[in-house]
Amino acid sequence: MKILVPVKRVVDANVKVRVKADGSAVELANVKMAMNPFDEIAVEEAIRLKEAGKAEEIIVVSIGPQQAQETLRTALAMGADRAILVKTDEQTEPLGVAKVLKGVVDAEQPGLVILGKQAIDDDSNQTGQMLAALLGWAQGTFASKVVIDGDKAKVTREVDGGLQTVELKMPAIVTADLRLNQPRYASLPNIMKAKKKQLDEKSPADYGADVKPRLKVIKTEEPSGRKAGVKVKSVAELVDKLKNEAGVL
Ligand code: AMP
Repeated sequence: MKILVPVKRVVDANVKVRVKADGSAVELANVKMAMNPFDEIAVEEAIRLKEAGKAEEIIVVSIGPQQAQETLRTALAMGADRAILVKTDEQTEPLGVAKVLKGVVDAEQPGLVILGKQAIDDDSNQTGQMLAALLGWAQGTFASKVVIDGDKAKVTREVDGGLQTVELKMPAIVTADLRLNQPRYASLPNIMKAKKKQLDEKSPADYGADVKPRLKVIKTEEPSGRKAGVKVKSVAELVDKLKNEAGVL
């Protein structure tokens, strides 16, 4: 079985993002970029399934600019076998990405697609679900455990009330939640080896998809700053403030 893992290049999770002065978007000039953290978890899960003998090949794919190659190289250094860069300079959106991914799935015929549950830049949490709909495949979203047994995948999902386990008939879509695993670091020898691994360059048109934006961002705002705290003189004053100002008691 092949496993396909889509990985997105996003602003590094440790960077404090700033909004452009004109409020049009987040500032990306000279900002450190990295693999979307949930996609690292998805890559790790695919590697673990391969190590457990449940898969033969892991293909990673990224839809984005030329620099998304670096993100793919990181996934190859972690242990993916082959990479595809679907090059575009458009700002990608979930529906366009899902359409490209459907084309990749049709061409590569994976038994499982593991995505991140959401990209930390747009927080859409839509791509996996849209891809499942376009393919007519079963989906297990917010996965915290994946067990493959023959042509079935048992996925434990993180839901509001606790954990829910669903059984999917494969081929299927899984989206990775935070507690699925702890991704490994790419070792230096593996980073060197990754340079020799196959990385193909394609365009959205090669997969019969267009990724032109369908949404228009009207405004981007930073969250309002936290108000300064105050020191209270007594427990009574604290209780009074909690009761009468904050309204939490
Ligand atoms: P989203 O629906 O935008 O929150 O993204 C959910 C997941 O879809 C991500 O964690 C990735 O696995 C995948 N994805 C989204 N955009 C891209 C992209 N441009 N290239 C590759 N994978 C993507």
